[in-house]
Amino acid sequence: MPRSLTSFLFLLCLLAAVTVARAQEDSRENIVRDGRVLELHISGQFSETMRQNLVEWITAISGSLRLVFGHWPRRQWQVAVAPAPASGSDPIPWAEVERGDIDRVKFFTSYNTSAMELKGAWTGYHELAHLLIPYRGHGDAWFSEGLASYYQNILQARSGILSEQAMWQKLYDGYRRGLADTRFENHNLRHASDQMRREGGFMRVYWSGAWYFLVADTRLRQQSRGSLNLDLALKQLNACCADERLSVPDMVRKLDDLNRVYLFQPLYHELVETMAIPPFEPIFASLGISVADGQVQLQDQGPGVGIRRGIALGKAL
Ligand SMILES: [Zn+2]
Repeated sequence: MPRSLTSFLFLLCLLAAVTVARAQEDSRENIVRDGRVLELHISGQFSETMRQNLVEWITAISGSLRLVFGHWPRRQWQVAVAPAPASGSDPIPWAEVERGDIDRVKFFTSYNTSAMELKGAWTGYHELAHLLIPYRGHGDAWFSEGLASYYQNILQARSGILSEQAMWQKLYDGYRRGLADTRFENHNLRHASDQMRREGGFMRVYWSGAWYFLVADTRLRQQSRGSLNLDLALKQLNACCADERLSVPDMVRKLDDLNRVYLFQPLYHELVETMAIPPFEPIFASLGISVADGQVQLQDQGPGVGIRRGIALGKAL
């Protein structure tokens, strides 16, 4: 082989190697809102088009998170996105939240999917909603999962992904799924929640928690005649304690103290002893929601309508 050709091939290989290394470099960028910083890390294994789709998606869902407190829960946080090894039709087959000095949400998505499809997947809203409380993963998983299951629907409604009607239908369907989950039918929620990771029963645990937050939100709004709600109550907790490591009993005590109510603690003690999801139809009825053949119907007038819209649409921020 002529020497010049060898050199040329060598250069070509070198160039290819550099290109591969470049392609596999993660992209990092900061999104700044309200003086708070989201560091976005996207794996270099994605194509440039997909990277742009991911940036658009994360910008959108992180925007929906601001609709609860008016800003992100932490001053600095991270989202990391990598491709899922094997993904079927689900655009986000896996995700997890790491809580620490800097909270980090890790998403594993399919290699190729549109920003619209990603925005329509509930997983993104669910994972970000976990950040609304200073939970660090010790006990009472029902509380954290319930919060995320409740707010994943609210975030989607407030950012226009779900109509108000669709949001209440999703909540209703969720409570029904929770009620149908009989994995731990002879055990209380405390036991089911502690055993869930090993033995299943996820729907009962998640939706019992979502029941807790719907009841807390509704009662706060009813008792305060609209001056207090779950968004504001959680915002108080976030303002004092976002950097702390609180157990759920600590959190419910603080939620009561900070908001000058006695609601979160008794509701906690009541719910952990329940043997099934408590009735939810009366709460829906109090919010002007009737149900026929499993389909929710929203009433236009009545005492609970304003509260119902306040939950779904939030206040103007
Ligand atoms: Zn979760």
